[in-house]
Amino acid sequence: MHELTIAELVQGLADKKFSSVELTQHYISRINQLDKKYNSFITVNEDEALNQAKQADQLRANGQANQFAGIPVAHKDIFCTKGIKTTCGSKMLANFVAPYESTVTEKFSQANFITLGKTNMDEFAMGSSNETSHFGSVCNPWDTKRVPGGSSGGSAAAVAAQLTPAATGTDTGGSIRQPAALCGITGIKPTYGRVSRWGMIAFASSLDQAGPMTRTAEDAALLLNVMSGFDCKDSTCVDQPVPDYTESLNQPLTGLRIGLPKEYFSAGIDSNVSKAIHAALDVYRQLGATIKEVSLPHTALSLPAYYVIAPAEASSNLSRFDGVRYGYRCETPENLEDLYKRSRGEGFGAEVKRRILVGTYALSAGYYDAYYIKAQKIRRLVKQDFTDVFNEVDVIMSPTAPTTAFNLGEKMDDPVAMYASDINTIAVNLAGLPAMSIPAGLVDGLPVGLQMIGNYFAEAKLLQVAHQFQQATDWHRQRPTALD
Ligand code: GLN
Repeated sequence: MHELTIAELVQGLADKKFSSVELTQHYISRINQLDKKYNSFITVNEDEALNQAKQADQLRANGQANQFAGIPVAHKDIFCTKGIKTTCGSKMLANFVAPYESTVTEKFSQANFITLGKTNMDEFAMGSSNETSHFGSVCNPWDTKRVPGGSSGGSAAAVAAQLTPAATGTDTGGSIRQPAALCGITGIKPTYGRVSRWGMIAFASSLDQAGPMTRTAEDAALLLNVMSGFDCKDSTCVDQPVPDYTESLNQPLTGLRIGLPKEYFSAGIDSNVSKAIHAALDVYRQLGATIKEVSLPHTALSLPAYYVIAPAEASSNLSRFDGVRYGYRCETPENLEDLYKRSRGEGFGAEVKRRILVGTYALSAGYYDAYYIKAQKIRRLVKQDFTDVFNEVDVIMSPTAPTTAFNLGEKMDDPVAMYASDINTIAVNLAGLPAMSIPAGLVDGLPVGLQMIGNYFAEAKLLQVAHQFQQATDWHRQRPTALD
């Protein structure tokens, strides 16, 4: 059962090949047996998941079930879930149970999905390797000495290890696409505003966006149908109709214009990764696409601009964790200032503190214009680069990450090297565009991700372009050899 995609599970449940209780039990036992190796879950929702599964089976028996009733999923531990702990990978929220439900998880519940549990992540989604989690690193199922990518590393590893058929993730600078690439799965970050951020713990509000992490593009389309849509509780959510993302999946790609930004294939990209991407591009040529080189001239400035804007927003968002209202509180504070200082000092990890310091500095009087305003100006130029290129091509392609999964510990002492893991993903968030990563090859037994970037609200196009590739190749069907 754990080999099946969501689309196949929908069929299997409808044909009564198995019940939701059997399916859920199967996944729970896999998590209980195997997750010691990966550490991809922070919380396993065992009892409640089985209750939900019983209810879903009942709905089906009564003929009241919708398409997804009884299908298990896991949620990144950044989505607030009523009654289940939401830690955001931090000591600060280690025992936090939210009094309300995020819109994304609420939509899954309304569609009668089963919540298997909450997945591990970098603390407050800050990281590219899932090593900053208070709950320990996640190991990559393809090689447990390597990182799964981050920050949605738990979700990616859980899908790759077949501990869940799919999971949710969030992407502020690459956190859906980069772990999807390193773990050999499919992930899509939608256009900013497509999916509600209500109840999703904020890192950098103008960049954060949620999306599905799955085995196939078809599954991503099915789940994006569930997740997308206007929400009056998120003022940045866009009130625009949601198409059925599965509708155009089977359309051929004849005449598709693909752009390859030369800046995304430059120094720093492993030559074997580049080779795998070029082989994938040959598949697109056979599918009828034309490919040309394009330029996104401000690419080199995206990383520094992001590392001003994201920490600036984070420093403001994280000021709510003060030891007073909720979250971690230090023991026996001497006075109010001591309470603030020690609660934050003890509750946050090193990377989060680094971001708060950088962000506070960039926003302080005297530096605001020099750093924050400058970064915002760069952001507009980065956006303009994309707008210009989308006059000439339908989709932009590149490697998702410069290398395959690196070793655990390899970049922990060098934040700048770690930040560079997102060199090809970050500009997309600055521009608010949709982008996707799909498995497109193996280098020394480790997965390579192909990134595709679309114009605003072109999710259906990206999913179609990804699905057609997956019809022609079987990279998305490769499994880590060590898998039981
Ligand atoms: N690695 C990037 C960061 O640490 C992006 C993280 C994310 O997308 N949440 O900021």
